[in-house]
Amino acid sequence: MVPEKMMAAVLHGPKELKIEDVDTPRPGAGDVLVEVAANGLCHTDVTYYEAKIPEKARMYPLILGHEAAGTVVALGDGAAGLAEGDHVLLPPVYGCGECDYCQAGLDNLCRKSVFLGASRHGTYAQYVTIPAKFAFKMAPSVDMERACVAADSVSTVYYALKERVGVRPGDSVAVFGCGGLGLAALNVARELGAAKLYAVDVRDDSLEAAARLGAETVNSKGKEKLFKELKTLSNAGIRIALDCVGFAATISEAFATVCKGGEVGVIGFTLDKVELRTGNFMGLQKRIGGSWACPTRLYPEVVTMIEKGGLDFDVLVSKFYDLEQVETAFADLEAGKIVGRAVIRIPH
Ligand SMILES: [Zn+2]
Ligand SMILES: [Zn+2]
Repeated sequence: MVPEKMMAAVLHGPKELKIEDVDTPRPGAGDVLVEVAANGLCHTDVTYYEAKIPEKARMYPLILGHEAAGTVVALGDGAAGLAEGDHVLLPPVYGCGECDYCQAGLDNLCRKSVFLGASRHGTYAQYVTIPAKFAFKMAPSVDMERACVAADSVSTVYYALKERVGVRPGDSVAVFGCGGLGLAALNVARELGAAKLYAVDVRDDSLEAAARLGAETVNSKGKEKLFKELKTLSNAGIRIALDCVGFAATISEAFATVCKGGEVGVIGFTLDKVELRTGNFMGLQKRIGGSWACPTRLYPEVVTMIEKGGLDFDVLVSKFYDLEQVETAFADLEAGKIVGRAVIRIPH
């Protein structure tokens, strides 16, 4: 039986977070009700918690959380393709299904995009409703307390590496920034057939985790012209670079690092202007492009990767917190005390 009330982490204003009882949502037509098992903790949660977003995007009260896995416990009218008891992975961003972007298979860019824990209630709660077509079934053997991080960090880098820069088997791939996204990127690049991985960060503990995924590591602390070191290390062979930091300096280093015909993906966010040697666009046929979230059509591929054991969750997830400790988890993330992802467990 689904209880009438549920526990949730509700944001009532900037840094005003309360763990409280709220009404359990009921699945509408076409929805499923999911009992949330766990959530990956994403930096975006902290951005919303601290209200570092435009005034008009703020919405209170708001249940935070957007990187979740859980179990289907009820189906709304007409909800098809799932049954009670199914384990599912929930995409943080999904679309209306009707606009030009959705029609083109890019519902991550939907004109009426829905973002869990941001534009609607999220998953730092015991239950959440979601359209059944956006709940992706996973084998019961998958450990949801770790696999939840695939909902956002893994899917984001999967889309970026597979479609936005196009990793090919045998490629050398450099990842700038080895937090939750960067470690996932190294793991996914390996699964897409990258032959050689390079990991750049300023933290030794993050680089140790990167090395466990098979990457050659470079600590960039205090270094200028990092691209020269990377070119020497790789014999000027790095074709793909992914910026997971969002600093102007790392984006231009990434662009300088890639070889002829190289591609740079940007999934770190910055408002700063970035310096790029524009001659490299035509002269060396380099490309640079951004990537945001992951179209929902790719989730079955992400689930397959999980089920095949392609993701090294022991490296990607390093710490667990209970829902009541979510503010401690935010503080630890900000203080650089988390390697890769932390997971927020939801009690039941
Ligand atoms: Zn996120
Ligand atoms: Zn749409």
